Amino acid sequence: MFISSIINGEMYNEENRETLPVKNPYNQQEIAKIILASREDLNAAVDNCYETYHRIIKKMPAYERADILLKTAQLLEARREDFAQTVAEEAGKPLKLSRDEVDRAVQVLRFASEYAKQINGEVIPLDAAVGGENRLGFTKRIPLGVVAAITPFNFPLNLSLHKIAPALAAGNTVIFKPAEKTPISAFKLVQLFHEAGLPKGALNVIMGLGEELGDPLVEHDKVQKVTFTGSLPVGKGIREKAEFKKITLELGSNSPNIIFEDADIDSLVDNLVTGAFAFSGQVCISAQRIYVHESIYNEFLKKFVTQTKALQIGDPLDEKTDFGPMIDEEAAERAKLWIDDAVSNGAKVETGGELTGAMLTPTIMTNVHNDMKVIAEEVFAPIVSIIPFRTEEEAIKLSNDSIYGLQAGIFTNDINRALYVADELEMGGVWINEISTYRQDNHPYGGVKQSGIGREGVKYAIDDMTELKFIGIKLN
Ligand code: NAP
Repeated sequence: MFISSIINGEMYNEENRETLPVKNPYNQQEIAKIILASREDLNAAVDNCYETYHRIIKKMPAYERADILLKTAQLLEARREDFAQTVAEEAGKPLKLSRDEVDRAVQVLRFASEYAKQINGEVIPLDAAVGGENRLGFTKRIPLGVVAAITPFNFPLNLSLHKIAPALAAGNTVIFKPAEKTPISAFKLVQLFHEAGLPKGALNVIMGLGEELGDPLVEHDKVQKVTFTGSLPVGKGIREKAEFKKITLELGSNSPNIIFEDADIDSLVDNLVTGAFAFSGQVCISAQRIYVHESIYNEFLKKFVTQTKALQIGDPLDEKTDFGPMIDEEAAERAKLWIDDAVSNGAKVETGGELTGAMLTPTIMTNVHNDMKVIAEEVFAPIVSIIPFRTEEEAIKLSNDSIYGLQAGIFTNDINRALYVADELEMGGVWINEISTYRQDNHPYGGVKQSGIGREGVKYAIDDMTELKFIGIKLN
């Protein structure tokens, strides 16, 4: 199977182009070849998006945009199994989780369809200022033009839609650069939009290497906004190069979860094991640090280890599999080095830590310190650390001792404590009695500190993908 860029609805299938293999992370078998785009292709794609924006999309009424988004949702729903299989195969994500991802992606499209019809402004009370009599002022939310969407491998469908769907809902055109490891779902998604009636050129996908195409895309003068989800180093580079363009950066995290002494351990262990090891920890809000009150620490650890050992490890395409490989061997080897490094500095591996190819078994660590990489940095791997604490203030301090601040979980039955701690945590979002890893697609989502800039969550992404324009009238 050849995966090519799609520009103005056309695929680039000529022979003698450079290709890149796409491999199934579980068995390393080649499942597709990407036909790599050149800088000329990139420029052609942006020019075409720009032209389509001015010729068609800018003038398209909201109800038509909403209809296309709804039709795409319906088509995706009808092909749920095909898309789930694709994600499972290209990303190595267990089928159960891949199906969840498709279901969420359908919802994102539905939300975008609804919000497309609700983009509005407000009337400004100009007579609030002296001299403002006989003047009428109002605002409109207008589209930006061409939006560049750069997406990661870990939710190749849903996180791409968190950018594409709001951008189209708001009346922009999109140049889409998916991750090179997971291009197949992206390719199929663009075709789905066309099938749903999206005009050619409103969504162009460019298949190529981020390190080659990233800079020219971000710096392109016809791109008005860059929305990026991915790693901190790449995000920092985008911030520097984007200059005056609008940007959204959804970056990494080392999410904390705090278990207070009054929490019901039995009801939360299962959920937290999922939160730590779903998709092998390759989730930006994965539960990486679990702080447990010292009075329940031993009981919690024992139950957590038992539950972790019960995870079914295997082929992502097998219905029974809970836990599969990491995205590639390089990523798994890097994670293993971090484990070894922590162990050589006194940490203990309670279970896991075995590496075979891209498969790193679910790893629980104790006796860790805040200066170890497994705590201080984003592990983005199946590694969780369980750490005892004595006081509320200590748990808050440990949680906040991070360059990141994306999402956290707190477990307690004391509402006053929960709300106090939620306020004190330096995070973009806090869940009470829910794991940090839980995300719904319509709440505001994004980080503070080095976890990012801006918010997604359809409605909030639409705000960031429009410009507020003021229009004033002097009345006679
Ligand atoms: P990544 O290596 O940063 O890649 C993300 C995307 O950026 C890919 O499409 C990549 O293309 C592209 N890229 C690479 N170099 C670039 C450059 N110089 N300029 C512009 N784009 C460039 O991230 P990843 O490994 O795919 O994803 C893991 C990271 O994403 C983790 O840090 C995770 O926390 C973060 N993440 C954050 C959120 C959130 O919402 N906050 C959600 C999910 C993931 P290639 O694939 O061709 O290299």
